[in-house]
Amino acid sequence: MTQRVGIVGGGIVGMAIARALALTGAFDVVVLEKERRVAAHQTGHNSGVVHAGLYYQPGSLKALLCARGRELTRELCQDRGLPYRELGKLVVAVTPDEVPRLDEIERRARANGVPDLARIGHERMRELEPHVAGVAAVHSPHTAVVDFAAITEAMADDVRRAGGRVLLGTEVIGVRAGEPTTAVATAGGTHTFDRLVVCAGLQSDLIARMVGASPSPRILPFRGEYWTLVPPRAELVRGMIYPVPDPRFPFLGVHFTRGVYDDVHVGPNAVPALAREGYGWGNVSLRDTLGSLAWPGAPALFRKHWRMGLREISASLLKPLYYRQAREFVPALRPSDLAAKADSGVRAQAWSADGSLLDDFAVDQVGSVTLLRNAPSPAATSSMAIAEHVLREYLGVPAREG
Ligand SMILES: Cc1cc2nc3c(=O)[nH]c(=O)nc-3n(C[C@H](O)[C@H](O)[C@H](O)COP(=O)(O)OP(=O)(O)OC[C@H]3O[C@@H](n4cnc5c(N)ncnc54)[C@H](O)[C@@H]3O)c2cc1C
Repeated sequence: MTQRVGIVGGGIVGMAIARALALTGAFDVVVLEKERRVAAHQTGHNSGVVHAGLYYQPGSLKALLCARGRELTRELCQDRGLPYRELGKLVVAVTPDEVPRLDEIERRARANGVPDLARIGHERMRELEPHVAGVAAVHSPHTAVVDFAAITEAMADDVRRAGGRVLLGTEVIGVRAGEPTTAVATAGGTHTFDRLVVCAGLQSDLIARMVGASPSPRILPFRGEYWTLVPPRAELVRGMIYPVPDPRFPFLGVHFTRGVYDDVHVGPNAVPALAREGYGWGNVSLRDTLGSLAWPGAPALFRKHWRMGLREISASLLKPLYYRQAREFVPALRPSDLAAKADSGVRAQAWSADGSLLDDFAVDQVGSVTLLRNAPSPAATSSMAIAEHVLREYLGVPAREG
């Protein structure tokens, strides 16, 4: 008998899993998405970078699934006529004291098999990016940019064509997890599934609680804000220019990205959001904020990161401080080049009860329910490989390619 599988969340991860299941022809697939469109949250508010796998701990899920996900994303874009531009990326050590950290990035990138990676000096840096400043860099020529929202739409089309359903405006408000079936309540009625896969991003811990899973990790929302370069000054950047990331922090640092439609963004920073879907300082949820403050891991996180937190919050509120961070790499940048704040995004960062921020992708299984508990960057790049992993390891199905 055909198994009924429900997917909570129409972001790129949920849709990639739905698509992989629907394409097998062996499942009746239903995606439940609370918003009126797919890709409404993280998937539609990110940097659009197809990462090549430079940073990740060799052997981690991030390292393995990013490499495979990049290939699958490129193939899908080629097949569907969606833009995929290999603009290339520089990770730049601005000062000599950053060189040892750049060495570590290079070591990881080589261990992860990043294609055609090169260590380069100042001259070659300036050939690739004439306005960049720094003492050394690694160059990843195959790092690309795409439109992840368009990719998610294409995946949703495949789900529908294969007989699956994508129910928009359908918020999951309760789950009764059981064997052999799980009942999922929405305002429009109850759905019954043999298997349920939860890919709810910023809400994933709330659904995990409904299912009876551990409350840890909790989701800590971190907003990333961008500025756009005024169009004539977009020429300052040809591809992507990144700093050497601070290994104590799970984010990559403010960088320059030429997007797939040729707009150049500076960002994202990382400030605590005051609501799970808090896209600006004016979006405040007392429930979310007090919940974070009361979390057992809050004092440990605060002790470890308060300095970095203050720096990021100040740069969010005061443009000259943000500008100063960006100018370190591109000294020709002028304050007036940062035209306007672009759309921000909010990252769903999993946070353990001991205060640590989870680095790798994390999946839990509770009875017939599979829960994506941590799917931060590069999960958009990795989505189709995450789908293969979930099908193989949790649903007992080898994924079909293509
Ligand atoms: C600022 C920023 C920059 C990033 N840059 C990159 C990048 O360049 N490259 C990269 O690979 N990754 C990047 N990422 C990470 C990437 O965007 C995410 O890892 C990826 O989009 C996660 O996809 P998802 O489907 O898990 O989550 P989401 O896209 O957030 O989707 C979750 C969905 O679940 C739905 N949902 C939640 N609760 C319910 C409910 N109760 N009922 C029904 N539906 C529900 C939501 O509405 C949402 O649509 C970035 C993220 C941010 C925020």
